[in-house]
Amino acid sequence: MRTLRTHSIIGSSVRDLFEDGKHDRKVVEASTARIVVASLNSKPNEGTERVIGLIESCHRISQMIEAIKASGGGSSSGQNAQVSSAVVDLNRRLGKYKWHPHVFGSMSAESHFRIHYPIVSVAFDQELGIEHFAVQWIVENLDAVHRIRRCRLQKCRKWFYAKTDHQKYCGETCRKKDASQGESFKEHRRVYMKKYRKEEAARDARAMRLAKGK
Ligand SMILES: [Zn+2]
Repeated sequence: MRTLRTHSIIGSSVRDLFEDGKHDRKVVEASTARIVVASLNSKPNEGTERVIGLIESCHRISQMIEAIKASGGGSSSGQNAQVSSAVVDLNRRLGKYKWHPHVFGSMSAESHFRIHYPIVSVAFDQELGIEHFAVQWIVENLDAVHRIRRCRLQKCRKWFYAKTDHQKYCGETCRKKDASQGESFKEHRRVYMKKYRKEEAARDARAMRLAKGK
């Protein structure tokens, strides 16, 4: 049962959330996303690089389609070609993984069977297990991948799962820090411009005096 071990290393609680059917889909999506985010924030390795590549590929496609929709005028052939090549890139990245159907018995009223498509691993190790968990999350929650983001604060850049579409920082501390840096930049610029204008006025006055031969 190699395929199930992928999940078991993450902990049975996540699998239970998926399988008991009692939990709200959004809650499961967010709690499992946090595992993906934690893996992205851990020590980088080839697996996390591949997962980041997949996430960024999804972001590019979402942004392009979003821009086409926002323009309202339909997409140009150039835009269509861009979206197509981005989709080819995403599928090329996914082509590295192999899924197969895995059937469970089910006690639910609707069916005696339940099917899940786990990624098959030939080799197995912890890092690979986490990578597969992340990839599985991505394909099962494609419309939520844009919520996995990096903190906008340049000194932080931590990955986080956004609770809302407009959340740009991993937390309040970073949001406030960036806002105050923005303020201090504005203040710095205000002082600089005041000094610059004063010097400019002095230069003009001197030029004027020279022109009058004084
Ligand atoms: Zn941050």
